[in-house]
Amino acid sequence: MLRGLRPEAARVTLNSHVAFVDLRAQTRALHPALIAAIETVLSRGDYVLGDDLERFEAEFAAFCGTGHAVGVDSGLSALELALRAADIGPGDEVITQANTFIATVAAILAVGARPVLSDCDEQGGMDPAAVEACVSPRTRAVVPVHLFGRIGEIEVILALAATHGLAVIEDACQAHGAVWLGKRAGSFGLAGAFSFYPSKNLGAFGDGGMLVTNSAALADKVRLLRSYGQRVKYVHETTPMNHRLDTLQAAILRVKLPHLDSWNYRRRRLAASYMERLGGLPIGLPWAEEDGRHVYHLFVIDVDRRDELRAALASDGIETGIHYPVPLHRQPALAALGYREGAFPRTERLAERSLSLPMYPELPVDHLEHVATSIRHLVEGWA
Ligand SMILES: *Cc1c(COP(=O)(O)O)cnc(C)c1O
Repeated sequence: MLRGLRPEAARVTLNSHVAFVDLRAQTRALHPALIAAIETVLSRGDYVLGDDLERFEAEFAAFCGTGHAVGVDSGLSALELALRAADIGPGDEVITQANTFIATVAAILAVGARPVLSDCDEQGGMDPAAVEACVSPRTRAVVPVHLFGRIGEIEVILALAATHGLAVIEDACQAHGAVWLGKRAGSFGLAGAFSFYPSKNLGAFGDGGMLVTNSAALADKVRLLRSYGQRVKYVHETTPMNHRLDTLQAAILRVKLPHLDSWNYRRRRLAASYMERLGGLPIGLPWAEEDGRHVYHLFVIDVDRRDELRAALASDGIETGIHYPVPLHRQPALAALGYREGAFPRTERLAERSLSLPMYPELPVDHLEHVATSIRHLVEGWA
């Protein structure tokens, strides 16, 4: 109906497709440097635990402001090895948030500990009060998730953890480069875990991850754990597992890392533009952050009739996402944790109402305008 009233808008709509994320744009811009980096690895042939991996670890540690960084094969592995190296296992409880990607909880399960879920705050991040209520004599660690790219109330979590003697392991898999209180995401707790899944703020050409820490002892344990527990070849000191990051992926990530801050800056500019264009509508927007604590891995709004809006945007050629449609405590795979529906009202409300809009550093401004205009027309049409 709205489209019938606006034939010009309808024509634009028919011709344009707005992708949720387009990874090719970044690759195109860096193509010669990426090819050169790959060629270098091919010419050296050091595919496993090679030179570019060591260099990338040093560069990523410097970027995060931590003493150490250890490359691993995924964000999940970074979380799992951090917990394992902190000696967390069967009989222990680890508190995290119900509103996160399954990997956070999968890592806790992988070491044999019990994940204890807490409800999120209104932005989907960790709520310190909800965490405090979950602390028991068995609690050993807390895993705050810098969800969507925003560092939450980490200083409160750190204080709470210190009071109760808990390790803090940050799930920074969506927050590469975010800065809060003068520190980077991942550098606040005992360890920080990053994912280099292709669509993350820093993405590889496949899977990859990194653990950062200021503890030399923890870094040493993770180095052992990621490569069959061996310091000396064929001598296996600890749990034998293979979670290494490929030299090729490290070489690619080394080309990208120097651009991360400018890409995040671009994400923040796009977020500000969305917020300006969507202001005044009955839509929940992310809190405006001018200090870099939010790097907008995702730009998530909160809206009534979300599914209707999503379908209407799809018919306007606009891809959107939902993070996350089924909260963890409602996942069949986690039924054994015994949580019931209604246990985490804020998480459940967001699962029904949140919508992630197209967001990546190279998102063309006319795409963003098209998204904002479509939302405005549709939502105003509901009034
Ligand atoms: C992507 C992600 C992970 C895990 O990443 P993988 O590299 O896919 O294992 C963990 N936690 C959060 C919040 C993520 O978004």
